[in-house]
Amino acid sequence: MRRPWSRELWRLTGLAALGALLGWPLGAPALGLAAGLALCLTYHLRQLRALHRWLTRHPQAEPPAASGLWGELFDRLYRYQKGQRHTQQRLRATLRRIQESSEAMRDSVVMLDSHGDLEWWNSAAERMLGLQSAHDRGQHITNLIRDPRFVSYFNARDYREPLTLPSPIDERQVLQFQLTLYGDDERLLMARDITRLHRLEEMRRDFVANVSHELRTPLTVLAGYLETFSELGDALPPRLARGLDQMQSQTTRMQNLVNDLLLLSRLEIDRGGGDHAPLDVAALLESIRHDAQALAGERQTLTVAVDEPRQLVGSESEIRSAISNLAFNAVRYAGDGCHIELRWKPHPDGACVEVADDGEGIDPVHLPRLTERFYRVDKGRSTATGGTGLGLAIVKHVLLRHDARLAIDSRPGQGARFCCVFPATRLRANAANDRHTIEAYPASRQR
Ligand code: ADP
Repeated sequence: MRRPWSRELWRLTGLAALGALLGWPLGAPALGLAAGLALCLTYHLRQLRALHRWLTRHPQAEPPAASGLWGELFDRLYRYQKGQRHTQQRLRATLRRIQESSEAMRDSVVMLDSHGDLEWWNSAAERMLGLQSAHDRGQHITNLIRDPRFVSYFNARDYREPLTLPSPIDERQVLQFQLTLYGDDERLLMARDITRLHRLEEMRRDFVANVSHELRTPLTVLAGYLETFSELGDALPPRLARGLDQMQSQTTRMQNLVNDLLLLSRLEIDRGGGDHAPLDVAALLESIRHDAQALAGERQTLTVAVDEPRQLVGSESEIRSAISNLAFNAVRYAGDGCHIELRWKPHPDGACVEVADDGEGIDPVHLPRLTERFYRVDKGRSTATGGTGLGLAIVKHVLLRHDARLAIDSRPGQGARFCCVFPATRLRANAANDRHTIEAYPASRQR
């Protein structure tokens, strides 16, 4: 069986030859050829018109009847259209199902186009964010959620972490916003109501802060009396003197714990930022080195190195507290005969304060949990050295308040390296400046 295309070619040649043959006896073969070709053209024009009519008037209907190449073209187009219609129906059904399931969700779901304009949202978004279908479709999301923190979160395009904010229509409701980029630069905004969780978290914070505060006075009284009694130590029987020593050291431990808990609560509750100023990091490291050397005595040596000329913008008391914690930890855990270095140096993200020792180091299995509250590698050792297990949690909180992060690198027997990485936005060219810092936090946790 010949293929339609070659059949069409035969038809054309046949008609042209027939025209020329018929014109031959009349002495006009060219005219006959032209008449044959014109016949062919008329046929194709008629089929084209049929195709045009079909596509413009009844594209869903059966295609016009035709044979040969045109017949096959009509059939193929019809099959293609049918396939497209099925795909469309399937997509519509899927979209409907997605919309129905999003509608059933208790969280807000808002679809934004590549400009950030509202395309679609579920009814939870109407309740939580106050969106109204009549007015808000096509509006930019930042016209409706105007909180500057949301606007900068939206523009930053870094959506790894969610953002917690009060609802734009009800201050008492706390929402957690999470943006996701998908498709052609479109965005999906999800908002969850975390009011209950937020209240519980607040209650926990207040409870710890209040208990710590309330324990402070009785502990001071106890410590005072114990000190007075210990002055009479020589007059006491040895068993009582030993007990008194124990009581004194445990009271000091409790005081340290209460002070650290209070410090952590204040770091969590205070929004901070009021005392941020450019800091001379070299001078700060030198002063911390001096204190840490006093704690280390002859057992370890401490040095300071400065490779970064810029200043750090932050709270002097908080930064001092964080670096002191790292330095005192090195003194307490690195072991005798080690060298500890405090270094202010450039980093690909900005700059970093590094506290490195060549001591015993930490097994990498502990590193991910090291900044958790009360997490200690060796509980007995930490307690013996006066540790509360809160030091690195304090460091982490201070760094969070300075847009910074803590990177820890350590291997057993190869020392430990704690690096506080500050972003470039926290750095200023070194210039003579006035520093107005408020001594809001204890300078260190030196025991
Ligand atoms: P603590 O108050 O017990 O010192 P931290 O949160 O400050 O608690 O430290 C957590 C644990 O990390 C410590 O118990 C200690 O085992 C370990 N650690 C911290 N710094 C070092 C270091 N420089 N070398 C070895 N271990 C360290």
